[in-house]
Amino acid sequence: MTPDQLRQYLEFYRDLGVTTLYRREPPAPVAPSVEVAASVAPAPQPARPPMNELELPSLAPAGDTLLKIREEIGDCRRCRLHEGRHELVFGSGNGESRLVFVGEGPGADEDEQGLPFVGRAGQLLTQMIEGTASKEGIPLKRPDVYICNVVKCRPPNNRTPEPDEMETCGQFLFRQLMAIRPKAICALGGTAAKALLGTKEGVTRLRGNWHKWRDIPVMVTYHPSYLLRPYNQNAKREAWDDLKKVLHFVYD
Ligand code: SF4
Repeated sequence: MTPDQLRQYLEFYRDLGVTTLYRREPPAPVAPSVEVAASVAPAPQPARPPMNELELPSLAPAGDTLLKIREEIGDCRRCRLHEGRHELVFGSGNGESRLVFVGEGPGADEDEQGLPFVGRAGQLLTQMIEGTASKEGIPLKRPDVYICNVVKCRPPNNRTPEPDEMETCGQFLFRQLMAIRPKAICALGGTAAKALLGTKEGVTRLRGNWHKWRDIPVMVTYHPSYLLRPYNQNAKREAWDDLKKVLHFVYD
């Protein structure tokens, strides 16, 4: 295993919330009985396997695709969020996009339709993407980007997903991102930022600057549902600025 592969494994486990790893020693050889030991020369001990023979769970199945990930999720009941859902919301858009938006989880409209960001917040996101792109002279429409969420099932009463739900469902988000390998990710809101960056910092502090998920640049900005509140007009301007940065970085 190369140092780079090892780094990828460690980052993968960190993203899943695993912060402590233990090195397992090989089992000690069983000592031969006294009589046998007297008559038989000790057998040579097998050499410790070199690093590249150690077996670790795969980071993601080789040749992973969005289709395979969706099939593997199936009629998922891996966390309690399946109990109240109508439709599982996997993601939508261009699966080969250079830009992926990650939100928190489906709301009522998304849960009905099985598609991400189709309610009022979704319409605002579409306006933000297409409006900013058009102003900046970038020929981009919403179907050109990929949009998904940290959790694929609607949390009851639109509550924030619990850490264990984010961890369980997050493995699918990470596989989606690894399958697409975009040039940049835009994290919409604090939950997406927390899932991707493992930080407790709020959006206000994180937004406007580049961060990284693995080796992919991440811009954090406000969730569109936050921007719909009338008293958040300054945040709206900031979100537009953030988006401008993302679009120029990805499409210039
Ligand atoms: S939120 Fe994710 S892990 Fe939980 S049931 Fe839905 S698809 Fe499965």
